[in-house]
Amino acid sequence: MMPAEGLSLDSSTAIAFAPPAPHRVQILHGQFDALSTSETVDWAMRLIQSGQRGYLCTVNVAILMMMQSNDRLRQFVEKAALIVADGQPLIWVSHWFSCPLPERVTGIDLIDELCARAAQENVGIYLLGATSEVITTAATNLQARYPELHICGFDDGYFKLDQAEARVKAVRESGAQILFVAMGVPRQEQFLEENWSELGVNLAIGVGGSFDVIAGIRHRAPFWVQEVGLEWLYRLLQEPGRLWKRYLVTNSQFVYQVIRALVQGALPI
Ligand code: UDP
Repeated sequence: MMPAEGLSLDSSTAIAFAPPAPHRVQILHGQFDALSTSETVDWAMRLIQSGQRGYLCTVNVAILMMMQSNDRLRQFVEKAALIVADGQPLIWVSHWFSCPLPERVTGIDLIDELCARAAQENVGIYLLGATSEVITTAATNLQARYPELHICGFDDGYFKLDQAEARVKAVRESGAQILFVAMGVPRQEQFLEENWSELGVNLAIGVGGSFDVIAGIRHRAPFWVQEVGLEWLYRLLQEPGRLWKRYLVTNSQFVYQVIRALVQGALPI
């Protein structure tokens, strides 16, 4: 079986079986795999156990809109082994356009569920991103939550270009199979794109501000806020100075493009 885009085979490892190709649907200009969180975790664990390599993108409304003006980000996402929808508005829109996605698949839920499975199946993880203090606390908290989890290493995400090679080497030499990178969008995607062939891990995921939440310095929106599609507003209220422009621009673009597509009655627009 030929590997899909974004997947590569590690020739040193026997292939037990390759994960089946996910069912991909289109929303505006973005492609999404119609998987639930638990299906995504199953898929990721099968990828790892079969010795293949691939990265997974969790795309929210802001990222979907950024992909229109950032070609590099768009190309990176399009080559992902798996692309999941991270946000309730994307799920609603998928239903309006008759290409239903089962549920939101968020970076932070994936960290939780993948760490639980990694602990059970003896898969090592590496955490890269956030400040030194935050990543240390996040690693401690994850270890406390999953005592059997093998954290092969962790490091902060504040480094100069000429220090990237050392970070990559540390990840590779740690022997980790899963890498969570939390340096913000699109910084974390650029890091993965530039270093993918050298990182050695089977699976990488960009997880944005998740380590801040795991370390307890930021709070996740209550479930009902997530369900009514206002997680972005909750984040905005926590960091208004940094995020107001991002959400004003990307949310307006998204609403406009969805209405236009509805009026035109067909996708893609
Ligand atoms: N960050 C980092 N290196 C940088 C800039 C940011 O590791 O050079 C970290 C920051 O400490 C925080 C996360 O990246 O933990 C920022 O995530 P953000 O909330 O911006 O995620 P996004 O919304 O962009 O996915």
